[in-house]
Amino acid sequence: MTIFQMFNRFKFLALVILLSLLGSNSVLRSDEKPRLVMMCLSAHPDDEDGLVLTSYARLRNVKTYSIFFTRGEGGQNEIGSQLDADLGKLRTKETSEAANILGSQIYFLGFNDFGFSKTAKETFTRWGGIDTVMARLVYVIRALKPDVIITNHDTITLSPRRQHGHHQVVGLTAFAAFTKAADSSFHPEQFRNPNIRPWQVKKLFLRARAWDTLSALVNVDPNLTDSSGNTMQSYSLSALARHHSQGMDKLIADRSPFLFTKHRYKLFESDKQYPFDSSNLFSGIEPFARQTGILPEEEIDTTAVFSFSIDPPSSVLLRADEMKRQKIQRDVTASFVNPTLSAVSFDLSVSLDHQKIFYKSYTIPTGTKTDNIRLSFLRPTQLAKKIIHFDALPTEQNSKFPVPPATFTLLPLHVQYPPTISIGLVQTYDKTVEDVLKSFKIKYQLLDSLRIAKENLNKYSTIILDLRTYEFRHDVAWYNARLLKYVQDGGNIVCFYHKSFDWNGYNYSPYPIQLTTERVTEEGAHVNVLVPGHPFFNSPNIISKTDWDGWVQERNLYLPADDSTKTSPKYSRLLAMSDENENQPPTSLLWCKNGKGTYTYVALALYRQLRNMHEGALKLFFNLISQPKHPF
Ligand SMILES: [Zn+2]
Repeated sequence: MTIFQMFNRFKFLALVILLSLLGSNSVLRSDEKPRLVMMCLSAHPDDEDGLVLTSYARLRNVKTYSIFFTRGEGGQNEIGSQLDADLGKLRTKETSEAANILGSQIYFLGFNDFGFSKTAKETFTRWGGIDTVMARLVYVIRALKPDVIITNHDTITLSPRRQHGHHQVVGLTAFAAFTKAADSSFHPEQFRNPNIRPWQVKKLFLRARAWDTLSALVNVDPNLTDSSGNTMQSYSLSALARHHSQGMDKLIADRSPFLFTKHRYKLFESDKQYPFDSSNLFSGIEPFARQTGILPEEEIDTTAVFSFSIDPPSSVLLRADEMKRQKIQRDVTASFVNPTLSAVSFDLSVSLDHQKIFYKSYTIPTGTKTDNIRLSFLRPTQLAKKIIHFDALPTEQNSKFPVPPATFTLLPLHVQYPPTISIGLVQTYDKTVEDVLKSFKIKYQLLDSLRIAKENLNKYSTIILDLRTYEFRHDVAWYNARLLKYVQDGGNIVCFYHKSFDWNGYNYSPYPIQLTTERVTEEGAHVNVLVPGHPFFNSPNIISKTDWDGWVQERNLYLPADDSTKTSPKYSRLLAMSDENENQPPTSLLWCKNGKGTYTYVALALYRQLRNMHEGALKLFFNLISQPKHPF
């Protein structure tokens, strides 16, 4: 210990003695005892460093916070059909279960997980701009007053080492917040709350990657044990496994070796020089008591707020899922389905938490094309109190719970589908395709193991292999030869997207297809139809340019490689699209003849559009499943 450190320690001890002599001193009036405080910043649930959080909480009595920029609602769901806000709710629960194991306290900053993003630029824009993102993070730092911040996400924004755009934003804002949180001129309105004060974080650490060869890295050993003899790794893995909807309970060591090595951190920012200790992220920092600021209440429930009813109930189909998932402050679009296209009259009522707030009668004339119905209503104030938005904080307006109007639009759909087709559906974890088939009264049969193993499949004109069939339906992988024979004999298979590790190396398709991790994340990316005469774009629905407008989240994912040595040239490449300034393979829709039948591979994010009853997506979907079955 240097003289300087001894002086500092002495100064601290003197302060503690002085304060305890003073008794009820205001600094220590908080019920918090002197402790060190760590904060981990993550973009999504499961990005937190559970090993470090639990090691410091369990072995060093450090108070640990885990801050999530989003609830992960834009991801894929491996265990059920919840998406968007419903998925966010599920992941909030999983994250909180994981935090119970890790011993950390969690907060969500409430930014929207709008799906995979390649750039920080796009993410900042979608999250309300750099200043908004900075202010929200700085507020939490000023409220919780951490000594040390760690993050898995770095500030690199250029390939090949850049992470997800959301991760880039976390890295960039963490770096800037180190200075901004202590700067009293940055968002001074936050100081109206007496426990929000400029705060200087002492150290900011970044998780080191395989290529980081710095010598001065701080290590966290996964094999350290607590008094019960359990390793820190065992706690962190069982916490990670709580993220069921992300498949983290299925992680195995050989796929994720990085989980089983020590975690290394590099010092990114420091408010002054501290002694280096490779085994301690807090070296040179002394514990002290601090009064934390109040953070906004959690959103209690942002889902299932609206309910809709149609009378008489069977007159039309109203897709209200989208509205239920939306927070009230946004514009909402729903789709109106009138399969007969004949005139129909109905009453529509909207309820909010079982309280009827809107009621109106409608008549849709025969063959209507442009009858958009728009209605708007106000959220009752007493219910508005249930949702407290983080972005309303920390201004004074928050206390008034402003109630903007919500609107939605009913749109008639114009799609054609052949009534005579018969679909075999291999279902996995998502129910969208079944919902669509049901809504349009299309004949289908769910294919269970027995049917796949024994049934005469030739009675189906098309068999749909839904999302990630081969990962979630091992029975299908086992009996795959029967499916390939079904194609040879004149059947049509439409196979939806898989992840590369579900698929590569198993020869599931009649000719090779090798998947990459490439995707087109700009949902508005221009679509180039490469074979305009193909039946998929003409029959029974003509796909026009505008049918590609208004998609959500992304165009496609896990694109097959274009290289003919990886993906057979027997497949026609039907569509080309790319993110701005990029060049993705034209493989989001592949089609080939095989024997007397056909095989189609769909890497498009079609199910997300189908959920919204997107007209263009419905047209394409109906075209995909309308191919004739041999013999015609
Ligand atoms: Zn993430």
